[in-house]
Amino acid sequence: MVADERTRLAAGGQPTGIDDLAQELVQRLDRFADPGGAALVRVINATGVILHTNLGRAPWPAAATEATRNAAAGYQLLELDRRTGRRGARFRAAEEHLIALTGAEDALVTNNNAAAVGLAVHLAGRAGVAVARGELVEIGGGVRIPEIVRRAGGRLIEVGTTNKTRADDFEEPLATGRAVMVLRVHPSNFRLEGFTESPDPGELVALVHRHGALVVDDLGSGALMDTSRYGLAHEPMPSERLAGGADLVTFSGDKLVGGPQAGLIAGHATLVARIRKDPLARATRPDKVTLAALAATLGLYRAGVAEREIPVWRMIAAGANGLRRRAELIAASVQVEVVSLRSTVGGGSLPGETLPSWGLGLPSPGPDRLVSALRLGEPCVIARIEGDRVVLDLRTVEPEADHALGQAVGRAIAGG
Ligand SMILES: *Cc1c(COP(=O)(O)O)cnc(C)c1O
Repeated sequence: MVADERTRLAAGGQPTGIDDLAQELVQRLDRFADPGGAALVRVINATGVILHTNLGRAPWPAAATEATRNAAAGYQLLELDRRTGRRGARFRAAEEHLIALTGAEDALVTNNNAAAVGLAVHLAGRAGVAVARGELVEIGGGVRIPEIVRRAGGRLIEVGTTNKTRADDFEEPLATGRAVMVLRVHPSNFRLEGFTESPDPGELVALVHRHGALVVDDLGSGALMDTSRYGLAHEPMPSERLAGGADLVTFSGDKLVGGPQAGLIAGHATLVARIRKDPLARATRPDKVTLAALAATLGLYRAGVAEREIPVWRMIAAGANGLRRRAELIAASVQVEVVSLRSTVGGGSLPGETLPSWGLGLPSPGPDRLVSALRLGEPCVIARIEGDRVVLDLRTVEPEADHALGQAVGRAIAGG
């Protein structure tokens, strides 16, 4: 920097002001700490979408973050039996929690739910996997269930029609042995409305088992608590699906479970054991850091403190009155309106469902410019546009960030 300034002065330039020099020094030091500017930028999520895939889905509970620090540094008894001193089963705490929480005989953790579905489908070998046509969904990011089935080596058998599929429709492929598995897929990010019908779950399970085939449920989010307690539709729970006869269920670790990215498989011991031996399970296995974070997250459900300790559930459970009071406090310090909003859960769960919420409405002649000023500011704030105004939903903002949010809003309005 000194050399640059000398060159500038030698070329007849004006000396740089002390404040500008200081600012440039800070910027250069920041680059030094983060060469290439590759660090993940922390954001305040004011979109009101609790599980925002572009913002990293679930924020972790503090217990998970602490567990990761322990797991990342140093050595652990990851695959060593402390009693015998020999190689043991890979760290099983997360799987033991899953067994207890779902009532399954066994469980396995993999890298993400897409891998979990692939591994489950692989059990069918080269035989057919039947899927209702209304459930052949694209999850997001161009990932499509039919592709996952094919890439896992399964032969996809489409059953029924887009809007209506009945249990009877599965009879023929099962009776002829063309299908050895029925894969049920949570419709994730869309809702079928109008003239529709899907197979009765119990009837379908009975039919599949009568033909000696398997039922695999891809639950997507997989709620470990009952969402209907929060004024939302009931999201399928792994325990009820297993109790209802599903042979295996799969779901994500970073959707409604509220922990790290992972794929959770639970079900019959013999099937889980076969998946564990699949070389692809090794190719998609999670590392010690993920296993530690997931075990810590699942432990919170078992301790009965999920609603308080897991950010996703804390945000779902947040009462509208409290959100309104926070909005009023922020609005008292910056010139913005307090507005009533609707938040969504996101992450492919509860499509079409919303929670009443409160937040800030920002005056702006150019909402696009203001949204971008908020995003480029420090801290980075992600807002949304409703009609022609910029709104900030407080449901997805941790209360500790309210003050910083108010200041960021003040600066963005002043700058725009
Ligand atoms: C999200 C989702 C997946 C993929 O899960 P990832 O953990 O993102 O791999 C698969 N199936 C359904 C129904 C989903 O909603």
